[in-house]
Amino acid sequence: MAYEKITPPANGEQITVNSDGSISVPNNPIIPRIVGDGIGPDISRAMDHVVNAAVKKVFGNSKSIVWFDVYAGDASVAKYGQDVWLPDDTIEAIKEFKVAIKGPLSTPVGGGIRSINVALRQILDLYACVRPVRWFTGVPAPVKEPQKLNVVIFRENTEDIYKGIEFKEGTKDAQDLIKHLKDRYGKDVNLDSGIGIKPISIQGTKRLVRMAIEYAIEKKRRMVTLVHKGNIMKFTEGAFRDWGYEVARDEFREHVVLETELWDNFGGKMPEGKILVNDRIADAMFQQLLLRPDEYDVIATPNLNGDYLSDACAAQVGGLGLVPGANIGRPYAVFEATHGTAPKYADKDVINPGSLILSAVMMLEHLGWDECAHLVIKGIEQTIGAKTVTYDLERQMEGATKVKCSEFAKLIAEKF
Ligand code: NAP
Repeated sequence: MAYEKITPPANGEQITVNSDGSISVPNNPIIPRIVGDGIGPDISRAMDHVVNAAVKKVFGNSKSIVWFDVYAGDASVAKYGQDVWLPDDTIEAIKEFKVAIKGPLSTPVGGGIRSINVALRQILDLYACVRPVRWFTGVPAPVKEPQKLNVVIFRENTEDIYKGIEFKEGTKDAQDLIKHLKDRYGKDVNLDSGIGIKPISIQGTKRLVRMAIEYAIEKKRRMVTLVHKGNIMKFTEGAFRDWGYEVARDEFREHVVLETELWDNFGGKMPEGKILVNDRIADAMFQQLLLRPDEYDVIATPNLNGDYLSDACAAQVGGLGLVPGANIGRPYAVFEATHGTAPKYADKDVINPGSLILSAVMMLEHLGWDECAHLVIKGIEQTIGAKTVTYDLERQMEGATKVKCSEFAKLIAEKF
């Protein structure tokens, strides 16, 4: 592969793709890393320190991650020139090496690209946005029992009203469409309306739900809940539910019990080792996750519901600071911090690197290096448990000691 301004490290190897779409990970995988803007360099250094220490602890010198710095956002403009927010080099590097990690990126104001994150998702077809949300003991949270929430949200990432098929109020396109809806379908829409279109497809739904069920099986989770608003949007959200059940029934028959079968066939008692697949209407789900959070586990949902649910769940366990994210497709995956660039804290070494470190935990699991992932989780639990935390948590935790971003990372790694 010929790159314009970057050179892959010579001491690493490429992750390869198997015929079934899964990945094969060598001992020294090259992982492209977008450090990110603002606080990106601080949190990336912290993540790097923790991950390298965990891999070293588990594998000694037999395995390591070989980071490959690639560029996007402000750093890309500085390196590649004006308006180059996402260079081809970066896309090609992720395509060549399959798995990448990124810090937050500034959204260009008035630049030639709407959102770098959205562009990455579309170009690499990263069709699932995956967010595990759990509470870490001691983190201040707005609910009485935050420990009861431990969910993994699979949000469809490419369809729904996020597809970007929108027509501005007053334009000819909007008016033509309104007229067509009236003439062809007899549907009345106010003439002064903007119009958005919500496509949800069989393919988009099935691959997302498939990934959620595969995850539940692999991680021995007990339930996958399809969250939709199908009572109102029957042919999009309702179809999402139906197609989701189809995947469960047709492709995972021996692993799953559907909610209807639970009562008909099993007297309401889940058979050992099976995964319950059920569904909930989105508005009810918001209530359920507040009132009975421990009844839910893995969630699969269309794009907009997933967007809302992810942040609502994050708030319940104390905010975005300790919630990781990943955009996953086949074969590519990009792991990322869920917060922004917090520019006022740039280069001050004060920010909480937890979100990016936990994203790296997801990446380690994706590579099949689960032992390293467990080690990092344990280190974070113990460090927060000892109340040695960055400013954002310290200001809310009684008796806590404030540490810098880099110190927080060192304390985590010292627990290994
Ligand atoms: P933000 O960067 O997330 O920061 C908002 C506030 O959240 C910060 O001032 C800070 O609050 C808190 N915060 C964020 N990250 C934190 C961390 N790691 N540890 C502790 N506290 C943290 O949101 P923004 O100011 O709205 O956006 C700034 C830029 O980031 C924009 O250009 C936006 O487009 C971009 N952005 C990028 C992404 C992404 O790349 N995925 C996501 C969101 C936003 P306190 O000041 O109260 O401490």
